Amino acid sequence: MEEKTVNLTIDGTKVKANEKMTILEAAKLVGIDIPTLCFLKDVNEVGDCRMCIVEVEGKKGFATSCIQKVEEGMVIHTHSPAVLEARRVVLDLILSNHHKDCLTCSRSGNCELQNLAIKFNVQNIEYTGEQSEHLIDDLSPSIVRDFNKCILCRRCIATCKNVQKIGAIDCINRGFESCISTVGNNSLRDVNCTNCGQCIEACPTGALREKDNTDEVWNVLKDDKKYVIVQTAPAVRVALGEEFGLPIGTNVTGKMVTALKKLGFDKVFDTNTGADLTIMEEANEFVERLKANRDLPMITSCSPGWVKYIEMNYPENLKHLSTCKSPHEMFGAILKSYYAQKNGIDPKSICVVSVMPCIAKKYEAKREELSNNGMPDVDIVVTTRELARMIKQGNIEFVELDDSKFDIPMGEATGAGAIFGTTGGVMEAALRTVCETLTGKELGKIEFESVRGEESIKRTTIEIGGNKIKAVVAHGLANAQKIMEEIKAGEADYQFVEIMACPGGCVMGGGQPIKSSKTRMNIDVRKKRAEALYTIDGRSIIRKSHESPVMIQLYKEYLEKPGSHKAHELLHTHYIPRVKYNI
Ligand code: SF4
Ligand code: SF4
Ligand code: SF4
Repeated sequence: MEEKTVNLTIDGTKVKANEKMTILEAAKLVGIDIPTLCFLKDVNEVGDCRMCIVEVEGKKGFATSCIQKVEEGMVIHTHSPAVLEARRVVLDLILSNHHKDCLTCSRSGNCELQNLAIKFNVQNIEYTGEQSEHLIDDLSPSIVRDFNKCILCRRCIATCKNVQKIGAIDCINRGFESCISTVGNNSLRDVNCTNCGQCIEACPTGALREKDNTDEVWNVLKDDKKYVIVQTAPAVRVALGEEFGLPIGTNVTGKMVTALKKLGFDKVFDTNTGADLTIMEEANEFVERLKANRDLPMITSCSPGWVKYIEMNYPENLKHLSTCKSPHEMFGAILKSYYAQKNGIDPKSICVVSVMPCIAKKYEAKREELSNNGMPDVDIVVTTRELARMIKQGNIEFVELDDSKFDIPMGEATGAGAIFGTTGGVMEAALRTVCETLTGKELGKIEFESVRGEESIKRTTIEIGGNKIKAVVAHGLANAQKIMEEIKAGEADYQFVEIMACPGGCVMGGGQPIKSSKTRMNIDVRKKRAEALYTIDGRSIIRKSHESPVMIQLYKEYLEKPGSHKAHELLHTHYIPRVKYNI
């Protein structure tokens, strides 16, 4: 049936809107920004908090604009005195039961509640009374929960339950006793949380934040006995600038490297080199499995949130996971072996710091199996947000910085390594190497467009030397679940699967700059950050991992060949079935 256009008036402006639109969406068409709080586009559209109320002429009470559909002839007022007063009351009530320590809150300056309180000039909290008190949960290696700052908007629940299909958190109790909790009110460490951090990205306040490890980094930086090497993941460089007011998706690689050198790291290397190494090993592993028709489909293993998810939910399918460690773990293992040996450095004195877009990497770095000779491959993980904090604490004027290059030789990576940061990137990088390995011929076109873009599940068939390889790419754990159910039911005929825990891949990881509900409604953040990575790849001189001079030298001098005994010892791992708890 054809959809109708309706005519309405918002704040005196005539608007033509699709009949299926909400008032909030119709207002956006004419540049009117109605404030919201519990609303998160496509994730939490429930009209609970009442911040987005508007007056509709001829109707009693207020309409909740995030759920109320437009109607022909509506005359709407978005900021009448009655609306403004009602919004102040909503804020007053929320703030009356809120620990208001903005000065020391990690979200100060980027808190939707704080911004609204300022915007609506809430100066005195009129409603006072009993405040709920919650213990802070900081046992998880990745997430800190402080429900004294929770406003019960449920954006985190909707994200965990609907976007990720996990359900590690839910609202329990009623009325004043209501709170967000886990099964048995356990720490997030002890339930079926994957550490993806998507709930942090959804939270409008400081109730959820990453475990901060910046003090550990400051301490090793001033320790003369430590040789501190930092590596930065591909997705960090296309998001870090946002913390300093630069447009979403600005590539700040050069400034980021300069800032890291100013902070005092002994070497600044690129995790993209680790990604090249992952491709060398993963492509080889795939070709071996394909030739032996063993444990197919092979599924990528570089997303630690995804690895924990499959360990908890599909332990019987762990043989499908590639045994490759993730890029920063592989890189850490090489830095503490090959690099240390070559440069006469005691590996015990090396501290590897990874700057990641991801909070699951904090958990991953603590996995015992990701170590060698009693040393963890990676010592400390900080997120893009934490690096931004360190740059600010270091009095560095980031935007004014000149560009620097990564240190050589371990900072020289290919374009294939760069695209690891977005959904489909690992598959595309791997296919470039797999195709040339299987055929022995150079690829004409190296872009695999069919695995690019934001479609939630991308299926493709690639012809390689007479073989047809079926591949699938999924991002977000709800989509991962669909693929795993197909595999479990024996209905999947794929050979190669890429899965990333975060919707959009690492560019949208749980450690990336947090975007407000308004920004998420108006801008395709994922697309802008991903485009910046594809531009880095497109401009790279070398775009295939197996052509990297660093890889060629590393295998010649140390690892011999992909899949060698040494490579297995340092670069591969195993997985552990884990107990799953549901709320
Ligand atoms: S959550 Fe927001 S309003 Fe609450 S203390 Fe933190 S910055 Fe202030
Ligand atoms: S980190 Fe991910 S899995 Fe854990 S509670 Fe948050 S959204 Fe759910
Ligand atoms: S933790 Fe954050 S996202 Fe979850 S309900 Fe509380 S304020 Fe909302």
